[in-house]
Amino acid sequence: SYRKGGYHAVRVGDSFNGGRYIAQRKLGWGQFSTVWLGYDTQSSVYVAMKIQKSAPQFSQSALHEIEVLSAISDGDPSNSKCVVRLVDNFKHIGPNGQHLCMVLEFLGDSLLQLTRYNRYKGLELNQVKEICRCILIGLDYLHRELKLIHTDLKPENILLLSTINPSKDPIKSGMEPILEKPEGNVNGGTTMSFIEKKLKQRARRAAARISGRQENTRGVGATPKPPRSLEGIDLRCKIVDFGSACWGDKPLAEEIQTRQYRAPEVILQSGYSFPADMWSFACTAFELATGEMMFTPNLGQDYSEDEDHLASMMELLGKMPKKIAIGGAKSKDYFDKFGDLKRIRRIKYGSLDRLLVDKFSFSDSDAKEFAKFLVPILDFDPLKRPTAQQCLQHPWINVGV
Ligand code: ATP
Ligand code: MG
Ligand code: MG
Repeated sequence: SYRKGGYHAVRVGDSFNGGRYIAQRKLGWGQFSTVWLGYDTQSSVYVAMKIQKSAPQFSQSALHEIEVLSAISDGDPSNSKCVVRLVDNFKHIGPNGQHLCMVLEFLGDSLLQLTRYNRYKGLELNQVKEICRCILIGLDYLHRELKLIHTDLKPENILLLSTINPSKDPIKSGMEPILEKPEGNVNGGTTMSFIEKKLKQRARRAAARISGRQENTRGVGATPKPPRSLEGIDLRCKIVDFGSACWGDKPLAEEIQTRQYRAPEVILQSGYSFPADMWSFACTAFELATGEMMFTPNLGQDYSEDEDHLASMMELLGKMPKKIAIGGAKSKDYFDKFGDLKRIRRIKYGSLDRLLVDKFSFSDSDAKEFAKFLVPILDFDPLKRPTAQQCLQHPWINVGV
């Protein structure tokens, strides 16, 4: 994808926007963009630069994302609403064309990485509550104040405020920013290993300086392993990735959301709005608490992924009311006129609190309380789901934190 219309190839030390930002290292990428850690020489802070592919359709979607991010920043001058902040945006011309770039405040690891660090075991419930509160503050702001639907809420798109891995956090590691192209980088050869080695050395030295210990190979910076226990870490986070966000009165696409976090009204095409984000929120909360995705539908021999998904929802949440089941443009593909699935006839009904106890070893009371919070958000009827604002009032999120 590093060709005309595609990604812009970035090297460590490259400068952007008239020399204001210097590329430090790659942070991540998506279908449309690469994301780089940059150093802002004007305000002496690290930033994340999202550099879009250059073809017109990518620029078009970047313009939309910039419009959304600007509205988010304008509506939250104190930057306290748990949503990522746009710092700047500009055009960058490279060999592959003109790339729109978004400069965002630099955030840490995603919640997906966090659950990986925790070996997919699930976080402590108090930590889940803290994270849920942040996500809900963000959603409440987006939904109620801005009338924005995120449409792709999931652990990967929620980033921690600071990383739990000091060697990866340039601020905590005390690492000095790279201000010019390192030697060996001039003729375009692959210098990543050289750079990475250098970065590691720096981080290691800085870590040794901070902890007052002798530099050794098992120092904080040397092995980028997160702490084994996540205990006592203040977990605050922000919602990112507004590439597919839409205004509540102007849905952009018929099919939204990442499969596992997709709401039933989206599958059935019965029209979606803010409650679709609430469904994804509930799936995310479950995943944080258990370490496993709530729904992982599969294609079967005589049923589709959608049908398996609908069946799994009913196994966990009970039968879908007939009115909802037959109310979407795609209902006839999956349901008969009685509101029963056409091709998956035997459904083993269970319940969320049983699952939490039996499969994830929750105590009875933890399971009951968590299910009492989650089940209403997973109502098949989107109009019956609580709003983010209402969830913030729920006792589960307010007790024991
Ligand atoms: P695309 O739209 O190109 O398919 P995407 O929409 O998934 O990609 P993002 O989710 O915004 O793009 O960013 C991709 C990844 O880059 C994130 O998952 C994260 O790892 C990293 N990233 C994005 N924004 C930031 C940030 N502000 N701070 C630190 N890392 C970030
Ligand atoms: Mg993303
Ligand atoms: Mg996107």
